[in-house]
Order: sequence, then structure tokens, then C-alpha cells
Amino acid sequence: MKNSLIILCTFLLFSWNSFAGTDEPRVKVEPPCWWTGLGTDTLQLIVYGDDIASAEVSLKSDQMTIMEVHKAENPDYLFLDLKIFPGAKAGKYPLIFKKGRERIQVDYELLIRANQTDLYQGLNSSDAIYLLMPDRFANGSPANDNQEGMLENANRENPNGRHGGDIEGIRQHLGYMADMGFTALWINPVIENNRPAYSYHGYGITDFYQTDSRYGTNEEYRQLAQEAHDKGLKLIMDMVFNHCDTTQYTVADPPFADWVNQWETFTRSNFRGEVKADPYAANSDITRMSRGWFDTFMADLNQDNPFLMTYLIQNSIWWIEYLGLDAIRMDTYAYPEKGGMAKWAATIKRLYPNFTILGEVWLQKTAHTAYWQAREDNFDGYNSHIPVVTDFPLHYAVYQGLNENEGWTEGLRRMYYVLSEDFLYDDPMNLVVFPDNHDVSRYYTLVKENLDHYKLGLAFLLTVPRIPQIYYGTEILMTGEEHTGHGYIRQDFPGGWEGDTINAFTGEGLAADQLEAQAYLKKLLNWRRTNPVVQQGQFRHFIPENNTYVYFRYTDTGSLMVILNASDKLQTLQMERFREGWGGYSEGKDILTGKTHTLTTELTVPAKTPLILELKK
Ligand code: CA
Repeated sequence: MKNSLIILCTFLLFSWNSFAGTDEPRVKVEPPCWWTGLGTDTLQLIVYGDDIASAEVSLKSDQMTIMEVHKAENPDYLFLDLKIFPGAKAGKYPLIFKKGRERIQVDYELLIRANQTDLYQGLNSSDAIYLLMPDRFANGSPANDNQEGMLENANRENPNGRHGGDIEGIRQHLGYMADMGFTALWINPVIENNRPAYSYHGYGITDFYQTDSRYGTNEEYRQLAQEAHDKGLKLIMDMVFNHCDTTQYTVADPPFADWVNQWETFTRSNFRGEVKADPYAANSDITRMSRGWFDTFMADLNQDNPFLMTYLIQNSIWWIEYLGLDAIRMDTYAYPEKGGMAKWAATIKRLYPNFTILGEVWLQKTAHTAYWQAREDNFDGYNSHIPVVTDFPLHYAVYQGLNENEGWTEGLRRMYYVLSEDFLYDDPMNLVVFPDNHDVSRYYTLVKENLDHYKLGLAFLLTVPRIPQIYYGTEILMTGEEHTGHGYIRQDFPGGWEGDTINAFTGEGLAADQLEAQAYLKKLLNWRRTNPVVQQGQFRHFIPENNTYVYFRYTDTGSLMVILNASDKLQTLQMERFREGWGGYSEGKDILTGKTHTLTTELTVPAKTPLILELKK
């Protein structure tokens, strides 16, 4: 992607000296700038300053005008509804606040949009996502590890501390991700999390518009987006609207009492997303789910407040435009007030038709998961408007099934049964499935460090009709149990730090099984990247027998036969049973070994082995 995105968007924080008699900056305006030519002509500015409500506001511009000024319950806020005229020109326009003879001027900037070719591409089942935790991937700039004004310094000895990884480290290794065969990059949040401890994960935002300086600058984030695009990697931004840090300014000093969900005493969410799609759910359970807090320092935002929702919607538009994003991964999608979130998603979809919102719905069952994918026919009329959701039911089934012997519903039949529920989804290909992620035990630990099972599971995940996502380190068999602490499932990627004796980017120092795993995944991903049948094909499967699962992917122009033998015996398949899948073809070439198998009456598959056969006439 080449574009001429030139943005000089300075953050709008101006002195209110004459009012407050102090040098402290006292007026803040968000969003910090905006664009002309968006599919919406309205913009609501939030203005924060000492007794700003008593000021008279005017905007000197023939490109846009103030339609309405809203006062909040808190006199330190104003909300300004602007209308941007068609064909508005870029420029800086004076926004003036007057109290008697005192006056402050904010030059509000409208920008030209970037060349939009190749932007806002969205995700689909041809993609494979690499997920990484930025603090733990690569420290490209040791100079930014500790920053003045930031409350936590780097300390690699602390599993829950900051380790120094950053945007520059990610940028330096985009080539590694592209070579591995990934097509999209999801980074856990890099937005400012300025807390004294346990701030590296990024899910406790303290500034919705600022990249955490220990990760880099907004400009570096934007450069990362451009270079990722240049290397054929789409960029997914991780956003969190359910909650934010209690010190974020609109939370610490809220404009309205109901900006944040309040309880008489601290009340945690029940973490039961199922209640939102349960026709029998008690109202108190739904309220606790939506309005309970995630944690003591994570204020639960109230998405029923229309000013808050506009603040969040505009924040996501701002980042989509600023970075040229392809997708947003929305954290904890089942937690917030769902009406406000549906409005958000519908707005984004209208402005960016190809753009993808990927909702994290961490639920056990297919039926509950399906409720959150965009659809017209939910029992209660709810439509989330988000096209892609996470497939936790299939994630669970993979490692559980691999660890079991075959039973009526156990072993590989566990995966078979979950896929058989796909009729519940509006669009099963638009589900993201994963061996593991940043919140669960590492995949290699989940499959009990069995390399055969590791390979079988990945062969499955990369050939079923889904969008696969791989968590950094899974390619080199990193281990770690969630219950010992999140720090242990988010360890530093070897080779990302100066002085590392093992380098997973070059392979130096990796053990033989790690190199084997990395090469295996690389082969699968690069094949998947160029094979339209695995990306788009229809799916047909056969009830697993002898813990051996046979399924096909097929289009008008090609077919794949996948055989996963998870048993500890060589299996001889009687091919007649599978004829409806392979009929019309005479042989199949295994994409892993290159070996050609003749499709006659019998096919033998060694114990604990996947075969992925491209069928030939
Ligand atoms: Ca660093």
C-alpha cells in the first residue's frame, strides 16, 4: 500500500490560564482532529475544562458549523454537535470559548483522508491471523522501556511486569510473519495504560487516543500499519469499550453520573455472557453481567449513555482513519450494554462496508456464540451487526478431543459434533478459531506436549471452514498454564531481546522439535495462503471411526481430502464409504510430504498422522 497519509494531528490541550489563573493545561477536546469526506457529516466534540459549561462557544469556519451545544451534569464538560459541510476543505478552524472578556481559542483541524486503495479490507476465510502480545514479542527500542510520566518501568524479572517489547520490535519482524504465511496481524492493545503495576496487557486504557509511549508513538503505530500492508499483512486493532481504567479523565471526573455503571459497593460482573441470550435469564443476572465491573481498577462504562456511545464510536472511526485499519477486534463483546454496541457496529459497517469487526465472545456453547454474530433472525430480534466472532466451542473441542480416546462423543468426534452445529450460525466461515490465545493455557501445554497431537490439531484448524488465528510462540511450542498466572502464557518471544541466546526468528538455538513445529506450521500456512479450496470450499465430513476423521473441502474447480488419524494404530480406510467426497478423482497429493496417494479401494494412514490431499483427476 502506498498512500499519502500526511497527518499532523496535534492533541488539543490548551491552557485556560485566564479562567483558572494557573499554567495547568485545562481544556481538552476530543477527537483531537477529524476528516473531511467521511460518510458522516456529523461530529460530536467532547470539551473538558474548568467550568467550561459557562463559556460561550463559537466556531469560525465556513466549512462546518455548530448545530447544538449540550451541557452535561458536570459543568466541566460541553458536548458540541458539529455539522461538516459537503466538500469541506481541510484546515484549522478556530473554536472559541468566551467567558466575559476572557477567551480561549482551539484550532480544530480537519484533515484530508488517505488514499483509500487497499485500506479497510476486512477479514475473510482466506486469512490467517498472527496474534501477539506487544510487551512480550520483541524489544526493538530499549530506549523507550522507561518513560517519564509513566508509572511502571520495565522489569523482565516480573512475570506480570513490563518487559520492554514495543511497536518497533513488531515492525522489525513483519517479514518473519509474512514468511510464516500469515496474512493478518492482531496486536493486543498498545493504547496508553498508565498504571503503577500490571499494565503491560493493554486492557486498562487510560487514554483512548494515545499510544502508550513505552510501545511507541501514534506515528510509529501508523507506520507499522503501512509497513504491514506493504508486506501483505492486514492490521487488526484490539479495542476495549466495555471498561477502562478508573483514572481515565472522563471516568475520574465523569460528565454524567451514568457515564460509568455505579454500584453502592464494588460489584464484579458474573462473567456469564450466556445470560444475554437466555430467554429465561433473571434480570438481576443480566444486570450484573452488563453493569458489574470487570475489576476494581476497570470502570464499567455504560454504553446506554448516548454521549458515551458517540465518544466510543468516534474513537473507533478516528483510529480506522488514522491507521488505515482493516479490522477491529472488540474485547469482551458480550459484556457491554448490547444496544449501544449494536449501534456502534452498524455505524462502522455503514461507513466501511468491507471492514471487519471481530467480536470476542468467550462462551462455551455454539448456540450462545451464534447469537452474537450479525443476523436478522435472533429470537429476541437482536442483531449485533458484527460479522465475525470467536469460536471458543471449537477451540475447546480440539485439545479436549486430541487428549481423549474415542467414545460416542469423545476423541475427534468432539470436533465433529461442534462442526455439526454450524447450522446455528448465520455465517460459519466468518468465525475465528484458534489453538490458543493470550487468555488461555498455551496450546502445546493443552495437548500435553504431544507433538503428534499438536500437528493433528493444527492440520484440523487450518483446513476447516473458519478464519484461523495463531498466538505468537505457538509455532515454537511455547508452554504455560493459565492458572499459574497470565504472565506465564505471555512469555518473551526468544530472539526479541538483545542478548537472547535463542532466536526464534532465525532458528538459532531452537531445539529440534521446535524447528520441526515451526517448519510444519510455515508449510501449512503458506499452502493455505495460495489454495482457494481450503480458503473458500464447501465442507463435508464423515462420522469419525477408529478415532480417524475424514472430511472434504470442495469447490467447482477443486477438492481436498483431509484425513486425521489420531489413533495409535495405522488405519486402512475403505474408500467406498467416502466416494461422495472423492468420486471423479483418482489420486491425491499430500501437501505436507508431497507424496501421491492413489484413490482406489483402500488408503492407509499411519498412526497419529494427518493427510491433506489435493485431489487430482
Ligand atoms: Ca522497548
